[in-house]
Amino acid sequence: MSLDRAAREKLVRALAGSMIAHADELTSLDQAIGDGDHGLNMKRGFEAVLATLPGLADKTLPEMLKAIGMTLVMKVGGASGPLVGTFFMELGRALPEQPVRTELVTATDKAINAVKARGRSEAGQKTLLDVLVPVQTVFAAGGDARAIVAEAARAADRTTPMLAIRGRASFLGERSIGHMDPGSRSASLLIEAAVAALECEVNP
Ligand code: ADP
Ligand code: MG
Repeated sequence: MSLDRAAREKLVRALAGSMIAHADELTSLDQAIGDGDHGLNMKRGFEAVLATLPGLADKTLPEMLKAIGMTLVMKVGGASGPLVGTFFMELGRALPEQPVRTELVTATDKAINAVKARGRSEAGQKTLLDVLVPVQTVFAAGGDARAIVAEAARAADRTTPMLAIRGRASFLGERSIGHMDPGSRSASLLIEAAVAALECEVNP
């Protein structure tokens, strides 16, 4: 995969646009089982990322991803900032400038492991890992864009009946059951936006 400057900018705008457009929805999800700031957190973080354009897109893909991650870690106060930020930073660290698909799979694997370490969490605890991990399984198995996006949406849905074991929602115990995890919804939206922006660039 080789992304020129225009494609890198398109990717950044797609990710940010999705978080800004869905801020209210993410906030309502977090009002149900958290403190109601997830939409605002993601919106604030990605507005800060947008503010680093056009220079951001002048960077190579790995450097750009690292810079996005650092901005998110710095600008987002909630638990999600360091976690989503770590994902982008580690992805940037692990990727070569023009990755082929197997290198992308290896890099996303490393990024997910870094999120697990940072959150001291695993899939099954009603967090964004419940989207990242199953989507990675589909991606690693050769799933195409449509399969990846479909799994992301299904995985976010599957967090609804789960019991939260990490993050603020875990304070609610059994009352966390019956609501979609906000971080899983934002992860699925980011995956959908990235796949849509990259689809014409990726040659599997
Ligand atoms: P906060 O919980 O600090 O208010 P946000 O509302 O922005 O932060 O983000 C909440 C989301 O972060 C949750 O929905 C969950 O997906 C994710 N999350 C919280 N704690 C963890 C953790 N320890 N590991 C993985 N993900 C987590
Ligand atoms: Mg919150």
